[in-house]
Amino acid sequence: MAKYTPVIGLEIHAELKTPTKMFCGCANDPFTSRPNTTICPVCTGQPGALPTINRDAVLAVLTVGMALNGDIPATSKFDRKNYFYPDLPKGYQISQYDLPLVFGGTLKGIRLRRIHLEEDTASIQHIGSSPSRERSASLVNFNRAGVPLMELVTEPDIRTSEQAGEFARELQLILRYLGISDADMEKGQMRVEANISLSETRGSDADKGNADNPLKLGTKVEVKNIASFKAMEAAIRYELMRQERILDVGEKVVQETRGWDDAAKRTVSQRIKEEAHDYRYFPEPDLPPLDMSELPLKDLKTALPELPQAKRLRLQKQYGLKLEVIEILIADRAAAAFFEAAASELEAEDKKHFPQELELLANYLAADLRGLMKAGGMFADLKFTPEHFAHLIELLSRDSITSRVAKDLLARMHHEGGDPKEILEREGLHQVSDERELRALLRKIIAENPTPAADYRKGKIAALQFFVGRAMGALKGKGNPALLQKLATEELGPTTEQ
Ligand code: ADP
Ligand code: MG
Ligand code: ZN
Repeated sequence: MAKYTPVIGLEIHAELKTPTKMFCGCANDPFTSRPNTTICPVCTGQPGALPTINRDAVLAVLTVGMALNGDIPATSKFDRKNYFYPDLPKGYQISQYDLPLVFGGTLKGIRLRRIHLEEDTASIQHIGSSPSRERSASLVNFNRAGVPLMELVTEPDIRTSEQAGEFARELQLILRYLGISDADMEKGQMRVEANISLSETRGSDADKGNADNPLKLGTKVEVKNIASFKAMEAAIRYELMRQERILDVGEKVVQETRGWDDAAKRTVSQRIKEEAHDYRYFPEPDLPPLDMSELPLKDLKTALPELPQAKRLRLQKQYGLKLEVIEILIADRAAAAFFEAAASELEAEDKKHFPQELELLANYLAADLRGLMKAGGMFADLKFTPEHFAHLIELLSRDSITSRVAKDLLARMHHEGGDPKEILEREGLHQVSDERELRALLRKIIAENPTPAADYRKGKIAALQFFVGRAMGALKGKGNPALLQKLATEELGPTTEQ
């Protein structure tokens, strides 16, 4: 049995993609607008400027809360979190302290503590490097100041780096399904901080502990500066190993904030607990408390889309798809819609061949189409429709085209768009299954190539492929492969086994 039980809790921030900022009417566009253009007296903290609450942002967080089965309190309020940093123009951040929008909830078996709403800070860009101090500077861009930011805090229920990765990836997917955040880690739209400790409690039921043997929490370290899921997993693994070494020699883990150095693949100390801030939270006097009964909670609930996990189970049950295909369909909300539209087209067209066409559809989508799409390419951007894709599968399943032609057609559909049936008519790419035509072609090739023909007849069966290949080449890949195989065997005649 392992010596220690890993204990991990995540704090995850996500920028909400509402049209405007959290407390003013400025455009919420921190990435494409020129520096310091989407700003106003409110989000730059000018004296006397008054905030107003962005209702869309509140509803967005409540939607996430409902999707994760959290509880919504009767009232909620905003509080000031006071600290100084050049990216915080007011000298405080409007956040939520004791009455967040959402309490509790669960995701992937991990209990959530809360979800609250706050405002993002400005972004700082450091230019120049330390040896040439006098040339270096720090530039502040206030476009991001005041962007709505959701913060979700889990209970320390996570036990492994993989579990943390699964949790964070699933949350990202849900935020995207809900259309609430693009949640791109590399762009900082989603930021993960991991709290990590080792418990010396052993023999409990390894998870939440049990009544006889509760899990006694050890000293935790908070890791920041994590820019990807992979980095998060690596940071957790590293930190668990570092803490285990400390405990093994009888020393104590120091409670501190550490940063992940992705180049060196290790965490480095940033700030120890003694220097920890007292944020002097107090209720935001410029904003009224929120009365949740005035919000359209029922409508939000009924408007929830099918969430990833429900969709996985349904796709599995309804179509019997393989897990890897399901994951491809789940990763992009438009992918499953595309697949299902194509499938219903095929089913309406021909019930009898549907099961077999369904398999072709799944394979062509997961392997061929996904292969043609660039990494990160979205189904919503495809140039052809699900009906066109269904037509391709029909042509294939009815032997009108070979799989090689199908792949070529798909590549053309992907680049130019269009219905494969029309492309086929226009360019005569139909599969050649005319027996007389194929037989004549094979006779000619056999006559022109007496050596491989003799080899075959002497028992070198593999030489058959030479003739099938030549014929296929002459037909530009359009020959019916099974028929060519059969006719070539007949035309070459019997072999004398050695
Ligand atoms: P802090 O006050 O330092 O922010 P909190 O108790 O508010 O700490 O918890 C912040 C996050 O740290 C939560 O996700 C929580 O689950 C996690 N956490 C709390 N205690 C531990 C611990 N001993 N080990 C790992 N994670 C912890
Ligand atoms: Mg914290
Ligand atoms: Zn503003």
